[in-house]
Amino acid sequence: MPRAKAYAAHTATTPLEPWTLERRNPGPHDVVIDIKYCGVCHSDLHMARGEWGNTTFPIVPGHEIVGYVTAVGGHVKKYKVGDKVGVGCLVDSCRECDPCKKGLEQFCYQGATFSYNSPERDGSGMTYGGYSQHIVTHEDFVLRIPDNLPLDAAAPLLCAGITTYSPLRHWKVGPGMKVAVLGLGGLGHMGVKLAVSMGAEVTMLSHSPWKKDDATRLGAHKFVLTSDEAQVKEAAGSFDFILDTVSAHHDYNFYLNMLKIDGTMVCVGVPPTPVPLSAFNLIFGRKSIGGSLIGGLPETQEMLDYCGEHNIVSDIEIIKMSEINEAYERMIKGDVKYRFVIDIASL
Ligand code: NAP
Ligand code: ZN
Ligand code: ZN
Repeated sequence: MPRAKAYAAHTATTPLEPWTLERRNPGPHDVVIDIKYCGVCHSDLHMARGEWGNTTFPIVPGHEIVGYVTAVGGHVKKYKVGDKVGVGCLVDSCRECDPCKKGLEQFCYQGATFSYNSPERDGSGMTYGGYSQHIVTHEDFVLRIPDNLPLDAAAPLLCAGITTYSPLRHWKVGPGMKVAVLGLGGLGHMGVKLAVSMGAEVTMLSHSPWKKDDATRLGAHKFVLTSDEAQVKEAAGSFDFILDTVSAHHDYNFYLNMLKIDGTMVCVGVPPTPVPLSAFNLIFGRKSIGGSLIGGLPETQEMLDYCGEHNIVSDIEIIKMSEINEAYERMIKGDVKYRFVIDIASL
């Protein structure tokens, strides 16, 4: 079995440290990928620290994986050695249920297999993510990275990109719509770029005053500082759609007040604790609140091709693998513009 150097967390309270893992021998439909870069998602941090209560240790996080194909199984049709590819949050699913047949593998009725912290479907152990030198993935769950996109800055598209693209498409964001993106982090900055590219008028809602200039540079038309009472009052009743990317506890009711009648707020951020919601804030104005989870394989490829056509990538800061614990601390403080990407050569 091929061995790979990796970084793992062994408990919720200890730092990530060097570890060695074993990947499976490639099967007939498997693609072996030499990982070049891996983005750092806030979900990696939630999981490595056991914040959602469902982590099996040791855990090797990382689901914004990009690199080159180094070997393929005998029956692989879609990829060949040397191809520029990626793996996102999903590595398998039942492939037979209704959502799987519709290309919504993330909602597989039998439970999708995620890139890390998921039991392998053959019972051979847990999945391990992209903070490692290589990965072995079924060809159906490998994605093609457009030639014109730089590999490092394309990595975050595999989670931050699809997680924001999918709800923007599902709720038909486009010209004539007033859209707000709540939280300017990894997901939020992709949400702004994508919503602007789709023709919406985009407002950044942020609790960090120093992010105003960046929001403008990313394409946002307006900026609302959520701690400023006057700005919040002015924003009341003004959005058709709010994309909520905040990772920490926050008050949904406060933001529902900013929706127009019939407006929708979609949560993609996952605060570790449940958030209270008053029915009054929905019934007055016939408002909706929804959620969205990454995206299925066909839509993820569609998003990558869309980003290729529109030249959209992430704003990144490259780090060494050994800097990951410090990067997590900086991510909590909002001190990242706007996604850390690990240079896997540093492993
Ligand atoms: P991130 O880069 O850390 O960004 C989170 C942003 O939330 C921050 O930049 C900040 O924006 C805002 N924020 C942080 N603490 C806050 C607080 N105390 N009060 C108000 N706002 C606060 O994280 P990310 O990687 O974008 O991930 C965001 C969330 O999405 C995480 O919970 C992650 O697990 C989740 N996620 C969900 C999916 C899905 O499929 N649904 C996929 C990937 C990630 P401002 O400074 O601008 O306020
Ligand atoms: Zn993620
Ligand atoms: Zn299924």
